[in-house]
Amino acid sequence: MVQKNSGPCSIQNCNSQGSRFCQFIPLAHKKTQKNGNYKYYIYLKIGQQLCHTHYMRIVEADSNEKLKSQEPKNYSFVEQVTMLTKVLY
Ligand SMILES: [Zn+2]
Repeated sequence: MVQKNSGPCSIQNCNSQGSRFCQFIPLAHKKTQKNGNYKYYIYLKIGQQLCHTHYMRIVEADSNEKLKSQEPKNYSFVEQVTMLTKVLY
């Protein structure tokens, strides 16, 4: 069985038009509990889909980091690419 991350986003009231979705995997579940967001999204179940925006906001959120609602780009991904690029060169 092929798992396709094609949405829709499982977050209530999400109307994301984005084309990127991430699966709520066990690791994501753990991270969400750790960063304290799970209490707000207790209805999320492993295997559900999240839009990329929500995934980053909920799963990858750092509790010390302020949430940027107007920044559509995942800058931590950019940072990762930058780090990888540095390693590669
Ligand atoms: Zn969403």
